[in-house]
Amino acid sequence: MNFSEKIIDGKKIAADVNRETAMEVAAITKDFGARPGLAVVLVGDNPASKVYVSSKVKRCAELGIYSEKIVLPKETSQAELLQVIAKLNVNPLIHGILVQSPVPKHIDEQAVVNAINPDKDVDCFHARNVGRLLLGDFSGFLPCTPWGVMQLLKRSEIPTAGKHAVIIGRSNIVGKPMMALLSAKGADATVTLCHSRTPDIAAFTRNADLIVAAVGKPEFLRGNMVKDGAVIIDVGINRVEAPGTEKGYRLVGDVAFDEVAPKASRITPVPGGVGPMTIAMLMKNTVRAFHLALKH
Ligand code: NAP
Repeated sequence: MNFSEKIIDGKKIAADVNRETAMEVAAITKDFGARPGLAVVLVGDNPASKVYVSSKVKRCAELGIYSEKIVLPKETSQAELLQVIAKLNVNPLIHGILVQSPVPKHIDEQAVVNAINPDKDVDCFHARNVGRLLLGDFSGFLPCTPWGVMQLLKRSEIPTAGKHAVIIGRSNIVGKPMMALLSAKGADATVTLCHSRTPDIAAFTRNADLIVAAVGKPEFLRGNMVKDGAVIIDVGINRVEAPGTEKGYRLVGDVAFDEVAPKASRITPVPGGVGPMTIAMLMKNTVRAFHLALKH
């Protein structure tokens, strides 16, 4: 395999997923005279969040999904935000609701997520949906980033059964649901979940067939922490200063790509790896939400 064949092209795979979604949306529009609808709620003015929200709204338009962007000032109280969600919960044009994370510190994010109608919880963060995920019930929503990783593996024909997968990071949005999906029946990996209190992480990663890095630390995973032939999935998106560039920053993953790529059998780049998949799977969940609404 030459070097470019090692790269798992998230942009291309996401484009394939998006093409499928656009076809599903077109079929829904034809059959029901309606469109799946997504509401994206942004509280405050976090620059990265603004970029994510704009990308989601733009992708909706490209795929024929109706969207509403609701931007609230950073002083918005939790009660005010809950009122906005209560209205969206009963809005028939809206099938999926997403509150962009992080919310300002005075707001309890999990309380907000749990106020979303679980049948509209396209991020799959609601306690009911997380519970179903752990029970192995994948008939509803799946969490966008870990589901995107699973799709990258599947569509790149990378087997997980019987493999030792090491996940670095135990967040509710990436690490923990990633553990659930990789260890589920059908995926059948043996999973080790590492975090900031894990001593000697390299002792685990050096034994891994598959490493998912979701740490939030630029270039955390170094070449000497990886065995030859391992598959590397880099979830990290970190802004590091880049004076003299137009934006003043560049995006760097949690993997030291130049050191790790020569040893890896397959690897995702940043950008252009997991990132595009997250939004692609959000769109898929919005279509699922439309079908769920039909059942009620
Ligand atoms: P997070 O909530 O900050 O969690 C980071 C995890 O890494 C925590 O479990 C933390 O351990 C662990 N960690 C931190 N420092 C560590 C260290 N020195 N050694 C070992 N473990 C350490 O982050 P997240 O939301 O999961 O996001 C992780 C990264 O993925 C970020 O760069 C984020 O921007 C990116 N991300 C990308 C996408 C995408 O679409 N590609 C989606 C979501 C997130 P403790 O639990 O012990 O604190």
